[in-house]
Order: sequence, then C-alpha cells, then structure tokens
Amino acid sequence: MDTGFAQTLPGAAYLNFCILTTAALLIGLTVPLGTRWPAKALRAALYALTSGALFLFTFPAGPNLFVDLRLVPLAVAAYRLGPGWALLAALPVTLYRISLGGPALPGTLMHLALVLLMVTLLRHHDTAPRLPLRENLRRALLIFGLPALTIFPTFMNVGRDPLDAAWPYLMVVTLSAAGFSLWLAVARLMSGAFERSAQTGGAGTLDLLTGLPNRVAFERDHLPRRPGWADQYLLLLDLDRFKDLNDQRGHESGDGVLQALARVLSAHLPCDGSGNAGVQGRAYRLGGEEFALLFEAPDRLSAQHFADRLRRSVPVQTADLLGLPDLKVTVSGGLVEDGPGALNTADRLMFTAKTLGRNRVLDPWQAPPATSRAPLNQTSPAVSTLRALLQFIAGNDDPGAEPDLQDLLNAAIACVPGAEAGTITLRAAGESVVQVQSGYDDSLIGTRHSVLQMQQWHGNPDGWRAGRARLLRGQALRDRSRDTHDPNSDTQRTLETAGKQGQLQANLLIPVKVQGDIYAELNLDSLSDEHAFDHESLLIAEEFGLWAAAILSASSRVKQALSSQDAALLTLGIALEARDMETQGHTRRVVELSARLGEALGLNASALHTLRQGAALHDLGKLLIPDSILLKPGALTPDEWTTMKTHAALGADLAAQLSDLTPAVLDVIRSHHERWDGRGYPHGLAGEDIPLLARIFSVCDVFDALTSERPYKAAWSVQDALNEIQAQSGRQFDPQVVAAFTAQHAACPAPPTPAELPESGYAHPPHLN
Ligand code: GH3
Ligand code: MG
Ligand code: MG
Repeated sequence: MDTGFAQTLPGAAYLNFCILTTAALLIGLTVPLGTRWPAKALRAALYALTSGALFLFTFPAGPNLFVDLRLVPLAVAAYRLGPGWALLAALPVTLYRISLGGPALPGTLMHLALVLLMVTLLRHHDTAPRLPLRENLRRALLIFGLPALTIFPTFMNVGRDPLDAAWPYLMVVTLSAAGFSLWLAVARLMSGAFERSAQTGGAGTLDLLTGLPNRVAFERDHLPRRPGWADQYLLLLDLDRFKDLNDQRGHESGDGVLQALARVLSAHLPCDGSGNAGVQGRAYRLGGEEFALLFEAPDRLSAQHFADRLRRSVPVQTADLLGLPDLKVTVSGGLVEDGPGALNTADRLMFTAKTLGRNRVLDPWQAPPATSRAPLNQTSPAVSTLRALLQFIAGNDDPGAEPDLQDLLNAAIACVPGAEAGTITLRAAGESVVQVQSGYDDSLIGTRHSVLQMQQWHGNPDGWRAGRARLLRGQALRDRSRDTHDPNSDTQRTLETAGKQGQLQANLLIPVKVQGDIYAELNLDSLSDEHAFDHESLLIAEEFGLWAAAILSASSRVKQALSSQDAALLTLGIALEARDMETQGHTRRVVELSARLGEALGLNASALHTLRQGAALHDLGKLLIPDSILLKPGALTPDEWTTMKTHAALGADLAAQLSDLTPAVLDVIRSHHERWDGRGYPHGLAGEDIPLLARIFSVCDVFDALTSERPYKAAWSVQDALNEIQAQSGRQFDPQVVAAFTAQHAACPAPPTPAELPESGYAHPPHLN
C-alpha cells in the first residue's frame, strides 16, 4: 500500500467513480418499481451490495489509512427509503468492518451513525429526485461534512497527529458529496425517463413531428378505462382542406400548422391530471392530419361542450401560435363514447361533418341531449327560437291574415346563430318570388327564380324536394350563386347589386314544405364570416323551417276555410236578390265596396272578413217580410213600414241560427239602418254606439242604392251620389266614414251645403229609411 500517495490517488478516485456511477445507474433503474415493500427490499439489497463494493475498492489516504465511499449508497438509501431500510442495507458492510476490528472501529461506527442521522433529518420524502441539483449538493455537504469530523478523534485514537486528518477529511467530504449528488441526479433522470415511458409506452410511441403520442399509443390507451375516470370519450379530428394549405403555403408551413395544432390540443388536456380545472385526457396524432383525443367527461353534454369549445378555439389559437392572423385552420370531427368500434363511428361522423361543410363536430346523440338535470338555459338557441316564434305567432293574432313574412324572416335571423341577412321567397305561378328581405336593398323584392334555378341553388334536387337545409360558404357559395343565373340577365344584375352577391360569405337555404310541396324558401346569409354557421345553426334553421311550414300551412287552411264560408254566404245573399226587387249584383257590389272602405279605414283582416259576411247577409231578414209588403209596387202605409223595418232585427236573429257567424256579423245585419243622429232603426242608436262595421256598411249600401236603377227611380250619377253621401255626413252617416269614402272615390267637388239639399231630395227606396 505504500506506493506513494500522489500516484495512487487519481487511479483510486477514478475507480471509485466508475463503481459509483455504475451503481447509481443500477439503482436509478429501480425507481419505477413501486413503493411496496418487496421493491424497497430489493433496492435496499442493491444499496447494500454497492456499499460493500465501495468498501472493498478503497484508496490510501496516508500511511495505514484508507478512504472509501461505502457511506454514500447508505446515505442515498436513507434519503430515499428511510432510516430503517438504510440500517438494513448498512448491516453487511458494518458487520464485516466490525469483524476486521482495529483502533479506528469506534470512529468508523460513529461516522456511520452520524451520516444516517443527518440524512434522516434532511430526508426529503419521495420527491428527492425532483429537487434541483444545487439543493441536493447542499444537503450532501451537510450529510457528509459534519460526520466526517469524526476523522480527527479517530486519528488521535490511533495515536497520530490530528492535523494529518485535514487532507483525508477534505477528500471524504468532497467525494462523498459529489457521489451523493451524482447518484441523485442519475436517479432523477432515470425516473423522469421511466415516467415518460410509462405514459407513452416507450420511445416508439411518440410522433416525431408533433411530439404527441402516436397511433400505437392510441391503440393501447383507447379501450381500457382509466382508473378514477367517469366516462371516456373519443374525439377524432381532421384538418379541413389541409392539402390546399400545403399546396398554397408549402409543406413546411403545413408541418408548422400540424405542430401548432398539436400544441393547441395538448393545451386543452392536462395529461398528467394535475389539479388543472380543465378536462383530463390526452391528444394523439393518428397519422397525416388526423388527431384523436381521449378524455374524461362526467356526461355527454360536458363532452359536447368540450369538443365544441376546442373546435372553436382551433382557428384562433393556431393563428396566434403561428403569428399568422389571416390563417384560418379549422377541423372537423366526430365525438363518441369510447368503446369497441368507437374509432369507426367517430370516423363516419367525421366524414359526415366534412360533407356538411366542415368546421364542425358531429356526435351520435343528435339533438342537444336532454338536460333533465340542468336548468333551462335562458340564452340557449332553442329557447330563443321558441321565443322568437311565440312572439311572431302572438303578433299574428288574426288567423285569417297573411302571416307577416317580414316578421317571420326577422325572427329567423334573430334566432339562427350567425345569420345577419336573408330573404323569403314564395312560390307564385311556378316561380320563386322574393317577398321580403333583411340586410339588402328592397329592389331585391320581386326577383324571380325558376324552380330549376332554385334546385340548382340548393345543389341537391332530391334534398331540395325533401325540404333539407343546405349550407354553402366561401368561394363555393359565390360561384354557385353566379352559376345559377345567366350572367347577362336582369336577375343576375339585381343579385349582384341589391343582393350583394360578391360579399356573401355563407348561406343557409331552408326549403319550406307546405302540404307536400315546396311553398317557400328561407335564405339566411352571413356577409361577414365564412364560418358564421355551424352545426347548431343548421339544426335551428331546419327546426325554424318546420315551424314556418306549420304557420304557413295553418294560415293557408284557415284562408281556404274562410273563403269557402264567404262564398256560401255570398250565394245566400245573392239568392235573396231574386226575391227582393233589389238590383242584380247589389250584394256582390256592397260586399266589395265595404271591404275596400274598411281597408281604407285600416281594419284588420278579421274585421274585414266580418264586414264582408255582414254585407253579404245584410238583408237576410227580408226573407221573413210578407210578399205583400216587400213586393208592394206603391208607397207603404205606416203599419207596413213598421213591419218592413223589422227586417234588420229579424235578419240578425235568423243569421244567429247559422253556425260560425260571430256577434260582430250579426251587429252589421242588425244595425245597418241605424243613423249617426239617432233617428234610425231598429234601436235608434246614435254616433259611436252604432257598431263601426255597421256605420261603414250603411254608407256603401246607400251609395249602391243611389247609383243603381230601381223601378221607381233612375240611377244617380256617382258624383250626385257622393254629394248626397257628403250631405248626410253627421246626420245619417259617421263623418269619418264619409270622409274616407269620398277620399276613396276620386275627384269630388265641394260638398253642397245642407241648405241646398231638400230634407228628402230623392225617392228613398223602401229599404233605406
Ligand atoms: P378534407 O377537409 O376533406 O380533410 O381535405 P384535406 O385536404 O385535409 O384531406 P386530404 O386527405 O385530401 O389531404 C390530406 C393532406 O394532408 C395530404 C397531405 O399532403 C397532407 N399531409 C399529411 N401528412 C402531412 C404532414 O406530416 N405534413 C404536411 N405538411 N402535410 C401532411
Ligand atoms: Mg384526412
Ligand atoms: Mg383533412
């Protein structure tokens, strides 16, 4: 051993480091073995073995003095496994040392005890490998620095100058601290590698371009359910039109997009499940531009929300990551519950999403899943659709009236997400005619399209006939719009100017089927965003189309029913003319006159309908007047006159027997001989006590009587009749009704003053007064 300190030290140190490193590697490899006792015992055995090896490979630190590093693995054992396991690991080498004996033995044992004590004090449970190297070095100095002071008393014990111990002291502390830190660093690296490979199944399962786990990893993960996860969902995503992007920007940019997308996907899924509030899961690159996400969600609705949020954020976040604000990267996908066959189902859904126009995620649960547990979301599209429709129906209080198409269009734009503008066309004479518009110019109204053009605009004649909504966007949309019409036609020019054809970004076309035929088309447009409409918009628009069809269909049925009722009543009125001496056509004329006057006075559709019915039946009561009076050629006696006057009330009573006539119709029949000044019959009502419809009708009735020829008088000219009507304003007639009537009947000279007119300047036909 006395070969010279300077020559042996480097060689011995080198040897020790080799052993140390090899042992560190060996022990580092055991890190992922687990925390149960057999694993710990195995590791303790390894530490024991290494400390024995280091004890044998000593180097001389002076005459009769050898330095070894056997305490380093024991310190690591205590640091990582605890003092109990470390004592076990220390047993073999210590027993051996005791068997060797010698004066330095007590110092050696004390040294060991102190090291284990220091480690125990500084021990860092479990996470030791995660500590920064500097912190482990600091601990190493404390662990080995203080116990190494025992070298000095040991020197005195063996009868040597304690000052000779300075050099071995520095050696022991430096080498031990370095070895300890190196050991921990290796363990740290190895455990990191093990953790990563535990996650990905080894280096062969990582995608080189994006760093995401690849298809192999996906196949391994996709069926087993993670412990502690509620339900596992699979979201399959494919970049939209990625080939075009590659072609336009180059393959390298394409790679950049794939990498950016991978980062966006991973950012949405904290894969270690570390207390992040987001959804837990992992993203995979299955190949090409296809990605998959396996994630946990408590229910389908949450899974849908997650998928939708993710899809929406892709264009924004990839553009941000790449610093290309005008880049629009979108994805289409399929979302399913994970299980056997899930990948195929997701793939089919993804394919459907592509054909529906891309940038959407479809799932097999169709309509938004029932939210029996969730409270009604007041701002959800479904609720706003319902609200818009209810408002529309409530505003349309008159079932006989045409539905207000403008209101219908506004309601559609209000509730279909993304809609900014639109039109409604109705079928007329085999063509689709634009009826109302929003967001365009009114000159668009009246534009005609043939059925063929509408089918071409839809793009799928069968789908069009079936009333299926279709979505078009971007250049494809503008091209289709241009191709549908002859470029030199007026229609095309109108579409370009009034219809802003060049600015169209997205269009939803919903054919509205009424009673088996396409009756109307609802076009909803976005002028600002190609991706304004998504799957939800499509669903809502289709729903809206069904509602619109129901409303239009109900209104057309009511209109049919009302018009056949009108026809029946008119026939009855005309039949009356045969018995009365009334001029041919009086009934028909007063019906039309009243309706026109009512319209001029702003009556709504149902009041107009009432007025027409009242006009048709106004003289029904004459059926009950004896021929001797009704057909009497000469003047009536006062008694006969009294009988004659009963026809108004009798007519109302008779009409009351007819089903379906409203009280307002009976009022017209009963009160059409009342006078504004209260001198009429049957009740002598005055002013506004007389029902308005009766006041309107009486003006028309008298006007028609005056302008018709009767056996006892010639027909008056229209002008004379108008003068007479005006003269009776405020007497026989309501002044406002007279004003409207005269205004309606063109040029009218200054009315004659009442003084100029005799009180009864003409022969009243018997039924007038
Ligand atoms: P779709 O919306 O229907 O999915 O159209 P698409 O163009 O995205 O789909 P298609 O399958 O026609 O084209 C896929 C393209 O993805 C073809 C290929 O050039 C490109 N691609 C696949 N893998 C990579 C890759 O690793 N890097 C780049 N830059 N491009 C890739
Ligand atoms: Mg593809
Ligand atoms: Mg693609």
